[in-house]
Amino acid sequence: MTAAVAVGAVLAGLAGVKALEARLPRIVVRAGILLFVLGPLAGLAYAMWTLWRESFEPVDLALLVVLSVVTGLGTSLGYHRLLTHRSFSTTPWLKGAFLAAGAMAVPSTPVDWAARHLEHHAHSDREGDPHSPADGFLHAHVGWMLAVSPAKRERYCARLMADPVVMLIDRTALLWLALGLAVPALVDGWRGLLWGGIVRIALHNQTMFAVNSVCHAFGSQEFSTGDESRNNWLVAVLAFGEGWHNNHHAFPSAAYHGMGRRPDATGLVIRGLERAGLAWDVRRPSDAAVARRRAAGRLSAR
Ligand SMILES: [Zn+2]
Ligand SMILES: [Zn+2]
Repeated sequence: MTAAVAVGAVLAGLAGVKALEARLPRIVVRAGILLFVLGPLAGLAYAMWTLWRESFEPVDLALLVVLSVVTGLGTSLGYHRLLTHRSFSTTPWLKGAFLAAGAMAVPSTPVDWAARHLEHHAHSDREGDPHSPADGFLHAHVGWMLAVSPAKRERYCARLMADPVVMLIDRTALLWLALGLAVPALVDGWRGLLWGGIVRIALHNQTMFAVNSVCHAFGSQEFSTGDESRNNWLVAVLAFGEGWHNNHHAFPSAAYHGMGRRPDATGLVIRGLERAGLAWDVRRPSDAAVARRRAAGRLSAR
């Protein structure tokens, strides 16, 4: 019951901020964003503290792991590779399911997320990049969200806004976020909400934020991309393959960011879907294109 009230209060707050976003003073919207970033971190700290006092029930571990995988793939496979970069095609039902899973993890609609991400690719580490460590590491990690600038949907995502499946999830994104909190709360009350909802969102937030910050500051550059994008194996492991970020900037529409050699959980799932006949038009750069890009990098490094 307590968990249901907590979920209701958080959702009512989020719904209020979202509905009145354009009219509310910026400071109120910023406070809402800060709450979404700091709230789960406080929940994570509380969860760590409770581990000293009470045992960790298997059902809570299962909720944390299963929902982390579902929503992590929702962001990486659904929002990023399928929607934003069109790395492959799939059925409308699967597209809707992956986008809904992404909406369960982030307080951003699919189209807003895609618009901001395409803006990042268009201006990587230059003026106009919404989240570059060139403007400060913390800015790239989290501070950029406090700018409260509206996503440039029409400019970057006109094509997506003509897709009825995408717009269905876009309009109902908050409901999916609610479902991501309600399901674990229904399964195991407050503890389910804590581990399967709040801790899960805290871990997802930090690993996905790290793609914007850590992967433009720490790691190796296999390709000369004209920006600061890096391959970082730790972020790659934690963020379902998204940490092979220099590879991604070199070949943005490639479905497999590990480039066939490095572990990429999302890429492996796409490969599995393709073998099952549920994904097609999977984009892969040719060996010649990859070799050309590598050679260009070596030349520019001289
Ligand atoms: Zn990037
Ligand atoms: Zn991208």
